[in-house]
Amino acid sequence: MQMLTILGSTGSIGQNTLAVLALHPELYGVYALTANSDHQRMLKQIQLFEPSVVVMRDTAAAVLLREKVKALKISTVVLSGCDALKAVAQAREVDCVVAAIVGAAGLAPTMAAVNAGKRVLLANKEVLVMAGQLFMDAVASSQAQLLPVDSEHNAIFQCLPQPFDNLNDAGVRRLLLTGSGGPFRQTPVEQLTAITPEQACAHPNWDMGRKISVDSATMMNKGLEFIEACWLFGAEANQIEVVVHPQSIIHSMVEFVDGSTLAQMGQPDMRTPIAHCLAWPQRILTEVKSLNFFEMSDLSFQKPDFERFPCLRLAMQAFSQGGTAPAVLNAANEEAVAAFLAQKIHFTGIAELVDTVLQQTEFCEPASLDVVLHADCEARKYAQSVIQRNPRAVI
Ligand code: NAD
Ligand code: MG
Repeated sequence: MQMLTILGSTGSIGQNTLAVLALHPELYGVYALTANSDHQRMLKQIQLFEPSVVVMRDTAAAVLLREKVKALKISTVVLSGCDALKAVAQAREVDCVVAAIVGAAGLAPTMAAVNAGKRVLLANKEVLVMAGQLFMDAVASSQAQLLPVDSEHNAIFQCLPQPFDNLNDAGVRRLLLTGSGGPFRQTPVEQLTAITPEQACAHPNWDMGRKISVDSATMMNKGLEFIEACWLFGAEANQIEVVVHPQSIIHSMVEFVDGSTLAQMGQPDMRTPIAHCLAWPQRILTEVKSLNFFEMSDLSFQKPDFERFPCLRLAMQAFSQGGTAPAVLNAANEEAVAAFLAQKIHFTGIAELVDTVLQQTEFCEPASLDVVLHADCEARKYAQSVIQRNPRAVI
């Protein structure tokens, strides 16, 4: 039996992971679950999966949960704090860590899992955007096994020959990273300023957490995924093409030098890539329904519109600038999305803010995690000061 830690178990990816695990209790056991503050959902997960340890980032939530667990005479230990998060990611009892925290908060525990040589199922793409080189170096030196959960990267992984070392040896000409284009692919550009958080979070094909939903609406998500793909597959920027595919049936493609193009298809349902990573190199059953090709509407493909989606261009530029630029981009974006969700800035203010922060920052070599975290922290402070100073951006 494989023992798991799920970092971010109360979120969208966390819940989908538990839904797959529930079908295979003979194959997987849960050592630890972690969350930010949602103690009510966590209590339900404890009752269903009986983890040895639970970590809540929020201390008050941990106190409340501890009382409830005690009253119910459940033996789960409830901890809180960053060190506890790292401890459950690297614990001896654990074989596999699902990295499903959203944003920079997942960097330290995911790194801890990698350094401990775990099998790491990576959904938390911000980690690779922030610290791609350090992360991939740590994977290589610890011999951790890295499996991509993000549906596009999982699709590419499934299309590549195994064992995979590099794109050249695998005969790959290019990677085609598909994306739906989000809910505003056809909205008149002049209406984008007035988009509300609810509209931005209503993705046409995928049901996801709020941060990634906004990222999908600005297409920053595709930009982050572009960077993620470069690191995961050792690709140069010019080996990846972003393709808008509104139906989200093809999850990405790999073109080989002989002219073959392989695509991975499936329902837009994260239980498929999660199950693929859990079982790899085997396959396990999920409750995801088959594609019905006879009822499917046409599959269509378009070039991305960089004017409408400046975040996509900003992310690609940050990757080619290198150094701490992607970490700064990520931090500014996290702050911008939070401000948009709190109705402090317009939807179009997200790209403006990220652009401003990038232009005002000097990048350096990301020689250590501390350097990356410092760049992250400075970018956040600057972004917050711009939000406070700029009444034009306020709704
Ligand atoms: P979510 O907001 O639904 O869940 C995030 C989880 O992280 C929750 O359990 C939350 O409690 C925890 N968390 C949040 N802030 C934290 C903090 N400061 N410290 C500790 N824990 C914290 O997010 P999600 O949609 O599940 O996405 C998770 C990650 O997976 C993101 O990086 C996202 O880009 C990536 N991803 C998500 C999907 C999807 O379908 N949802 C698809 C591909 C990739
Ligand atoms: Mg994705």
